[in-house]
Amino acid sequence: MEQVDFTIIGAGVVGLAIAAEVAQTNNTTVIVEQHPHFGEEISSRNSEVIHAGIYYPTQSLKAQLCVRGKSLLYDYCQRYQIPFQQCGKLILACQPEEEQQLQCIYIQATANGVNDLQWLDQSAVATLEPAVSCSVALLSPSSGIVDSHQLMLRLLTEAEQQQAISLFGTRVNGVEQVADGFIVHVATGQAAAGQEDYSFKTRWLVNAAGLGAQRVAKAITTLVPENIPPLHYCKGHYFSLKGKAPFKHLIYPTPETNTTGLGIHATLDLSGRVRFGPDVEYVGDVDYGVPETRAKLFYEAIKRYYPAINQQDLMPAYAGIRPKLQGPGEPANDFIIQTEADHQLPGLVNLFGIESPGLTAALAIAEKVAEWVKQ
Ligand SMILES: Cc1cc2nc3c(=O)[nH]c(=O)nc-3n(C[C@H](O)[C@H](O)[C@H](O)COP(=O)(O)OP(=O)(O)OC[C@H]3O[C@@H](n4cnc5c(N)ncnc54)[C@H](O)[C@@H]3O)c2cc1C
Repeated sequence: MEQVDFTIIGAGVVGLAIAAEVAQTNNTTVIVEQHPHFGEEISSRNSEVIHAGIYYPTQSLKAQLCVRGKSLLYDYCQRYQIPFQQCGKLILACQPEEEQQLQCIYIQATANGVNDLQWLDQSAVATLEPAVSCSVALLSPSSGIVDSHQLMLRLLTEAEQQQAISLFGTRVNGVEQVADGFIVHVATGQAAAGQEDYSFKTRWLVNAAGLGAQRVAKAITTLVPENIPPLHYCKGHYFSLKGKAPFKHLIYPTPETNTTGLGIHATLDLSGRVRFGPDVEYVGDVDYGVPETRAKLFYEAIKRYYPAINQQDLMPAYAGIRPKLQGPGEPANDFIIQTEADHQLPGLVNLFGIESPGLTAALAIAEKVAEWVKQ
């Protein structure tokens, strides 16, 4: 049976970042991805925002890995000419109670090490963003946007240059723990077209399967169910804005309290177009449709801070699914990165609930996984 050192399940931004990092250590590394190409799930259905690390609870993995990941990501983009723009972001207060909430956000950001936020009064906002309506705002100069596809392509190239092997169109169906690692059972191709099954042995196994992480974890024979958190699909729809962009910064409302998302905000892509979203809808299945009827909800939310919005200018764009660990109305969970200390299976790392800011945090997650591996 073939034997490798590292196996990473999932070629999204997180799996690819881990592969690029661990492949540097001269170990044989394999990336297993069920789709024919990288980044076909969460990593290509997001806002492509480089988050500053503002909102997450102090000392949470989300806060630490976002702040560290942001700095690693800007350096990485510069080093490898990956398109990005540090355009900055405004968080707006439109009501007196939102101004109080903005104060709390400022305090939380400072506790997270985000020390560059600036207060802007109404006239300062009007100078920066004349189309925006608010009473006061916070400017986050370190927020930005990145071309996530180019980022993933570069990470894959880097891993492959270090001799990592990518197995696309290959699905992990089962994992058995053995004395010094795991036997991974995979299937390639469609059952109807002569599906091929085979197995190989790996010393280390990283489960970075995104929406499939819980399913992969359940297929690991000796992993006890108590170590597998529940998964809730939480869909976010996007609408793009017809015509010329009315903003130069990312524009965010104050998030609703106990929010599951950050409120329907405006992000820019690297060609300067504006899209609004994502909203929040818990769903039972993976379905990427964007019903045109949601335009009304978007319009109502957007007009609070962009009064000139015309509902006819909102075009259904795309949707993504967050791998949430909490159900509707439950308090927000942190990322879960499980190692042997948590599940007692030497060599196994499970990543659960890698929702936003997972794109920003990907390089920091990879750094952390590589540190554990070296121990
Ligand atoms: C609507 C939305 C907006 C977001 N906006 C932002 C943002 O602006 N900024 C930010 O920092 N983060 C954002 N995020 C979060 C970010 O996109 C994710 O955290 C990140 O992309 C997760 O990457 P991943 O590699 O863990 O998952 P994925 O990209 O989903 O990769 C997992 C891979 O595993 C593969 N897989 C699954 N099961 C198997 C199996 N059995 N065998 C083989 N392969 C398998 C899948 O096919 C998939 O390719 C957003 C997320 C959503 C949903």
